[in-house]
Amino acid sequence: MDLPAPKVVVFDLDGTLVDSDAALVAPFVQLGVDPADITFGHAVAEECARLGISMSDYVGAYDTKVVEAFDGVQTVLDAVPRWAVCSNKHPESGRAELERLGWEPEVAMFADEFGWAHKSLPPVLERLAVGPAEVLMVGDSNGDLHCAEQVGCDFAWAGWNPRVAEAGPGGTVLDRPSVLLWLLGIFD
Ligand SMILES: [Mg+2]
Repeated sequence: MDLPAPKVVVFDLDGTLVDSDAALVAPFVQLGVDPADITFGHAVAEECARLGISMSDYVGAYDTKVVEAFDGVQTVLDAVPRWAVCSNKHPESGRAELERLGWEPEVAMFADEFGWAHKSLPPVLERLAVGPAEVLMVGDSNGDLHCAEQVGCDFAWAGWNPRVAEAGPGGTVLDRPSVLLWLLGIFD
C-alpha cells in the first residue's frame, strides 16, 4: 500500500460493515427466487431485474432490523476520523440501517444516487472533496474493487467476511477490521 496513509476510508456497506448476506437473500426467496441464483455485490435494481422481481416488492420485504456489524467494525468506525459509505443498496433499506446502528458517515451514497446502475466513486470523492490518493476503499466484491481501480485509489478486502476469506482474492486482504487502524496510522 502506498504512503502516505489515506485520509478517508470509503466503505461498502453490505458484506463489509454489516453481515447482511442472510438479510439480502430472505426477500428474494420470499418472492420465489431460487437461492442458487442469488449473488452479491450488484446494484439492487439490476439484481431485481435479473431475477425477475419488482424492486419495490423486494424493498418492502427487506427487514431493516436484523443486520449487525461484523465484530470489530464499531471500534474502527469510532476511531477513523473521516469515513463514508458507498453502496449499491436501496436508500430506504440502507439509510434505515445506518440510523438503527447509530452510524453517521460523512457521506453516504446509495443506489438512487448512481442512477440505479452500479455505484462508482467519483461522486463520492467529489462530495468528500478529496482526490483518489487520499482514499482507501474497503469492500467485499469485485464491483467494489472495480470502483477503486476506476479512480486509482487504494483498495482493501474485508477479509473478516468469511465469503471473502474463502475466495482468497489477491491484493490487500484485511483479516480483521482493526488492521485498518494500523494502515491508517491510528494506534490508540
Ligand atoms: Mg458488499
